[in-house]
Amino acid sequence: MSEGLITPIVSTSMARVTVECLACGADRSVEDPGRGRLEPGECIRCGYVGWARRGELTETLRRALRDRTAESRRLRPIEPLP
Ligand SMILES: [Zn+2]
Repeated sequence: MSEGLITPIVSTSMARVTVECLACGADRSVEDPGRGRLEPGECIRCGYVGWARRGELTETLRRALRDRTAESRRLRPIEPLP
């Protein structure tokens, strides 16, 4: 094995983050812009465009979002971390 000779392409400054669809819970890996907004686009499963970073979505928040989603079909972009 000569792994030391090869530099993995993934070791760039652009990190990837896993996000979760707020509607159906599907996972998606997107590039993390750092300070900017994540733009995963539409969910390939349900077409929804609301996402949350994996791990930030608690069961409580999940429920609240589900209720809100049922009330008003407003699209919520992912907000950057404070
Ligand atoms: Zn979805």
